[in-house]
Amino acid sequence: MPDLASYAVTDGNSRGRSVAEPGPKARSEFQRDRDRIVHSTAFRRLEYKTQVFVNHEGDLFRTRLTHSIEVAQVARSIARAMRLNDDLAEAIALAHDLGHTPFGHAGQDALNECMLEHGGFEHNRQSLRIVDRLEERYGAFDGLNLMFETREGILKHCSPGRAKELGDLGLRFIEGRRPSLEAQICNLADEIAYNNHDVDDGLRSGLLTLEQLDEISLFARHAKEADREFPNMSHRRRVHETIRRMIGAQVTDLLAESGQRIEAVAPKTLEDIHVAPALIAFTGAMQKENHTLKTFLRENLYQHYEVLRMTAKARRIIRDLFAAFTENPRLLPPQYQEMAVSGNIARATADYIAGMTDRYSMKEHRRLFSVGEL
Ligand code: MG
Repeated sequence: MPDLASYAVTDGNSRGRSVAEPGPKARSEFQRDRDRIVHSTAFRRLEYKTQVFVNHEGDLFRTRLTHSIEVAQVARSIARAMRLNDDLAEAIALAHDLGHTPFGHAGQDALNECMLEHGGFEHNRQSLRIVDRLEERYGAFDGLNLMFETREGILKHCSPGRAKELGDLGLRFIEGRRPSLEAQICNLADEIAYNNHDVDDGLRSGLLTLEQLDEISLFARHAKEADREFPNMSHRRRVHETIRRMIGAQVTDLLAESGQRIEAVAPKTLEDIHVAPALIAFTGAMQKENHTLKTFLRENLYQHYEVLRMTAKARRIIRDLFAAFTENPRLLPPQYQEMAVSGNIARATADYIAGMTDRYSMKEHRRLFSVGEL
């Protein structure tokens, strides 16, 4: 173990696993968590789930899987530079989107609407549900039995009402305590990753243009810098030289601001982090630029008519599937039928639908609704 800050999460100060297990031999507890996540079924499914573009729209667009790997890269770099536990940051980042439905946010919104009277659906809570209960891989327990701090990082937000159902893990939302710095890093690494790769994918798809992005300061000033250094680059190189500078600037900004905040609070232990204000943050100036970029992406990419057409289709698919299964649970595969009989039909249906990949949900929709399809 490299020399970590005294307030980093370690095997020694961790609150451990729900079910006690013998310690790992040639790796740390958090490396073991990361490995369990990588080997899980839910992790492999990320390859076929939408980030912004549906998986079959093109081979080069980000999927939930490549997004999660990019978040892990950014989170690990930041954690390492701050002498924090980069294995924990990596584990949280790789697991943070496990609970996503097919078709990204459109799918989640549709499933949440279907589940309104049954406790709702939120991908964050679903990620936790997967690692705590739904993965079936071990003889001794359900789920992956991850370390407390990994689970804490996965559960990014939670309403105080819901938090009560989550025992120890929910307590921080009721008491207003902060999660570890490693978890705080993952939140912002997620933002850095998607803002930048959505610009890249938006340009690649042709839904965004360079002329539009030249109006956005964060992009424009780094494009200018790249042009100054390499005046005659091809379009692809220019885009990449710009985006890599944007990522670099955001990481550098975050390291500087967070470093200052930590110095001001001077935490000594992990407990000091829990009671301190948010210590991982961008400067006000960078926050503003990020906000402008986000608004731009929402208006011009996520609400582009071609994306909205897919979004509308996705909502219909999810709503139809939910209605068909809850109306007649015997249409569910046996494993989910069992869950439906023993408990809550709506929740078992939501678990089944959330676990689907984009194309599997489309296939299931055809199987249920199109005559002549097997
Ligand atoms: Mg994410």
